Amino acid sequence: MSHNLFCNSLEQKIDHPLYNSHQIEVSFKRDDMIHPYISGNKWRKLKYNLEELKKQKKTRLVTFGGAWSNHLLATACAGATFGYKTKAYVRGERVTNPLMQMCQLFGMELEFVSRDAYKDKQLLFKNKELEHDFFIDEGGAGHEAMLGCEEIVDELGAKYDHIFCAAGTGTTVSGLASALQKNKIKTTLHVIPVLKGGEFILENMHALGAPLDQVALHSNYHFGGYAKTKPELISFIKEFIALTGIMIEPIYTGKALFALHDLMSQNHFKQKERILFIHTGGLTGLLGTLDKF
Ligand SMILES: *Cc1c(COP(=O)(O)O)cnc(C)c1O
Repeated sequence: MSHNLFCNSLEQKIDHPLYNSHQIEVSFKRDDMIHPYISGNKWRKLKYNLEELKKQKKTRLVTFGGAWSNHLLATACAGATFGYKTKAYVRGERVTNPLMQMCQLFGMELEFVSRDAYKDKQLLFKNKELEHDFFIDEGGAGHEAMLGCEEIVDELGAKYDHIFCAAGTGTTVSGLASALQKNKIKTTLHVIPVLKGGEFILENMHALGAPLDQVALHSNYHFGGYAKTKPELISFIKEFIALTGIMIEPIYTGKALFALHDLMSQNHFKQKERILFIHTGGLTGLLGTLDKF
């Protein structure tokens, strides 16, 4: 089956009292609507990996992640959709949760490995049937993934002064930065790391060859670290969802959007400026954090 199953995502202007009071136009790039399971940036990151796998005539996707990884679910569903087997090494003790169960429904083989063994992904990979297997790094990270994320910028119909995007590995923002430069677009790229000590994102971006001169890094919106939340973040998310009808979650999109709102409240932007928020999807992450709401 061709891998071109998906269309461009919607670019949607959002009505919100904060944006209205500051007279700033905010649009969302609705990558969350690309597909319910191959969600958001995870589809973008898989796309050219799948092309490469096809070229190399491999038949199985082998990848890595934690038990709530959006990337594992995306890989499992993409495998089932396009006719490839899938296998994941899952970090830590065997657990079962809705995300793992959905991966299994899509036919993914799960192997739980100790945190120690998980560190050497190449070794885990090499143990197996190499001639059929195609390696995809944790979170789908890498050069092919960056190329897929560049297409977000290519799809844009309007011009923006600012783009906001969450960062885990920094692959998605690398694609954005690279495409802005290639297309000579002067937009400032605001990067919000969801992990503590987010300065490493700039190193990751540099390693992927992405330019950093248009990047504004906001490393103080991690709320305690990866998958950590605070009541302030949760109430922000609840209010936003009820006010707009757009789902966001506390792992990635909630933190990035909190940063946008916080900066706007501090008058960081000028009147009439236009902002684009990349909704990177990942809404199944909500399932693992509902107890916080
Ligand atoms: C994986 C993920 C990210 C992080 O993407 P990177 O390319 O690793 O920086 C952001 N948002 C969502 C919803 C994700 O699932």
